Amino acid sequence: MARGKVYLVGAGPGDPELMTLKAKRLLGEADVVLFDRLLDPRMLDGVRAELIDVGKNAGRHKLNQEGINRLLIEKAQAGNIVVRLKGGDPYLFGRGGEEALALLEKGIPFEVVPGVTSSIAAPALAGIPVTHRGVASSLTIVTGHEEPGKEAPLDWSAIAALGGTLVVLMGVSRLEKNAAALIAAGKPSSTPAAMVEKGGWPEQRMISATLGDIARKAKEEGIESPAILVVGEVVTLAQRLAKKKIAILRPDAQQKESAALAENYGFSPISAPAIALAKKPLPSDLLERLGRAECVAFTSANGVNMALQSPDIRQALASKMLVSIGPKTAQALAVHGLTAAMPQEYSSQGLEKLLSNRCRSILFLRSSQGSRYLSDGLRAAGIDVDDIPLYEVVPSGDPRLDELIKRARSVDIFAFTSSSTARFLIERAAAMGREKELFRALAAGTVAAIGKPTKEELTRLGVEVDVMPDEFTFVAMLAVLRELAR
Ligand code: SAH
Repeated sequence: MARGKVYLVGAGPGDPELMTLKAKRLLGEADVVLFDRLLDPRMLDGVRAELIDVGKNAGRHKLNQEGINRLLIEKAQAGNIVVRLKGGDPYLFGRGGEEALALLEKGIPFEVVPGVTSSIAAPALAGIPVTHRGVASSLTIVTGHEEPGKEAPLDWSAIAALGGTLVVLMGVSRLEKNAAALIAAGKPSSTPAAMVEKGGWPEQRMISATLGDIARKAKEEGIESPAILVVGEVVTLAQRLAKKKIAILRPDAQQKESAALAENYGFSPISAPAIALAKKPLPSDLLERLGRAECVAFTSANGVNMALQSPDIRQALASKMLVSIGPKTAQALAVHGLTAAMPQEYSSQGLEKLLSNRCRSILFLRSSQGSRYLSDGLRAAGIDVDDIPLYEVVPSGDPRLDELIKRARSVDIFAFTSSSTARFLIERAAAMGREKELFRALAAGTVAAIGKPTKEELTRLGVEVDVMPDEFTFVAMLAVLRELAR
């Protein structure tokens, strides 16, 4: 009879990039893959094997351990290369050892492929080194979910007496009991503690408190499995080492690029479009007005892209002096083969300086709510200003914004990229009856405004602005925020 082989493979904590190279290779070579419901489906992208969800967490079609063992044996005996993919490391509270023994008994070849365990990776990803020179020189990993009636129950007093860091897996449902047991056994209730939920998943969260308070807080925040409890002084390092969560409120079309930039700068981005752009019908005297202006100014890449959809505008622009407020806008024009001058400072004074002696009239092609900040200054300086709205900024109606508002307290930084992002975020929170909570979160977190009009609008709305870059770009804003976080 043909004999297959079983690989007991660790998949890491959740992020598919944290799988080992060997795990990835074996998935490509396998005939059959047995996996648990909790795994990120992206791990199985492109895998051609027969996929069996043994759904240990699924409830209904749940196979028990014996059933899984039997299936492994059956598939291997049929001559298959079988990958048994398990969360984290297969031999740490993963029952991998039991599966290995069952295979051994049947004489089926097997091999274990270690994985990145969540017990170390989840704290790490939340900014907690499990050991740290001078703070913790040992790590103890225990299960928080012992089967009642076990022969050798956990000795909480021994555990409480250990210094160093304690990591408790499978500890959500018994968090309150376990924390109380540790305190009763002598661990000070003031010891720092954290719960890291879904470490390495896109929705990773961490809450921290003291050992005495962690169960209450976890309940309040609705922490669910999978999550791990970390107890010890190392928890406090997260204040400095955890990635700061930054809420990005830009329109959907700019989210991907902005999130990638935020990641480059060391932040953990939360995409929550507060605004959307709705195209406006162009006025009938558009070409006349374009013809009259000596100079045409754009204030956003969005404006450029909308304007250049019209061949008439494109043609009229060819003979004009073009001005772009900001490098992104200039880049968007360059993509269309147009060169624009840029003021050194993105303000009316900056513009005035740029225009002086070169043109006496300027036409803005921009959003209908574009701030009057630039135009008023120019008018005061005697320049003829015209303004044609290309698009209107409207509330996004995006469910991700609602999610953000619900979780506003866990946001570290709010990045406001226009006055409308500020207005519509607050309006939406008010409509959800969460305005007060939002204001509290804004006061507790860092509020960044991309430029002066945005800052002024926030101030008018009663939000204190902590950060504004010298150069009014998203990247400059990220750079200032990074400096602040050091
Ligand atoms: N073998 C796994 C652990 C299996 S026990 C490993 O090495 O990671 C299952 C427990 O692991 C869960 O109850 C939870 O406490 C923890 N866990 C697994 N994945 C996790 C994750 N991504 N974030 C936080 N905890 C996780």
